[in-house]
Amino acid sequence: MPFISGTTMLKNAWDNGYAVGAFSAHNAESIQAILWAAEAEQAPVMIQVGQRVIHYMGLEPMKVMIDTFAQNTNIPVCIHLDHSRQYNQTMKAIQLGFQSVMFDGSSLPFEDNASITRKVVEAARALGIGSEGEIGKIGGTEDDITVDEEDAMITSVEDAVRFVQETDVDYLAVSIGTAHGIYKNPPKLAFARLQEIAEAVKRPIVLHGGSDVPDEQITKAISLGISKINVDTELRQSFTQGMLDVLLKDREEYHLAVSLGRGREVMQAKVQEKIRLFGSSGKARDYHN
Ligand SMILES: [Zn+2]
Repeated sequence: MPFISGTTMLKNAWDNGYAVGAFSAHNAESIQAILWAAEAEQAPVMIQVGQRVIHYMGLEPMKVMIDTFAQNTNIPVCIHLDHSRQYNQTMKAIQLGFQSVMFDGSSLPFEDNASITRKVVEAARALGIGSEGEIGKIGGTEDDITVDEEDAMITSVEDAVRFVQETDVDYLAVSIGTAHGIYKNPPKLAFARLQEIAEAVKRPIVLHGGSDVPDEQITKAISLGISKINVDTELRQSFTQGMLDVLLKDREEYHLAVSLGRGREVMQAKVQEKIRLFGSSGKARDYHN
């Protein structure tokens, strides 16, 4: 079976100085695009299920669909729940056999975030499932929740250390200047802060809002301890562009296999580009020993 705990996958990345791409899936074709890209690159990969697709498609149908497509693959795969803001939903994903879950209590008071995250960590760990928590608010819009730029604070080292002490979460999402979505002006990541946090908490750090960040900033962030990078917006753009290419050429092309198929192809190429940038290409071999 290809399924690997998020804890194992990110420890491997952290120890070896690369990042695993956590790519958002939205339908059958996008699941295939991610899996085929990872197979072509022989890369460990995370497929993440976000809140919007849960509303639209359902948590369990997405899990079943990913299982179906992934079960015969020869690369390490981790199915991850992204930005769950409900304890019950996070526990449901644990019951369904996700290999990694994120409880996002970043909009709650510190103590509430820490105490709920702690409960999630304990339940997940008992079953060998990885857990992600978030401290500090990441800007931009994700699943209809918008964090204004003024509220998108850079996470403090003290908060990160205290949060990790209280939760013992496996990997930590911090706010270091990225935002969800596309940037009006190129972001400038807070590298010094990232380095301080990574050295203080001594565990994999997660970068949200990985779309549209200049490549050299991504590479530097990985060198300072980023081990998981979430990418969604750029993949949706690629998929949509592929479909548009077909429909703008022939607006009476009603075979969904043609338009969705082209979307899948363009998205796969984008995922492969990100895998190479993140340094995870070829790393599946580490799991074959
Ligand atoms: Zn995010």
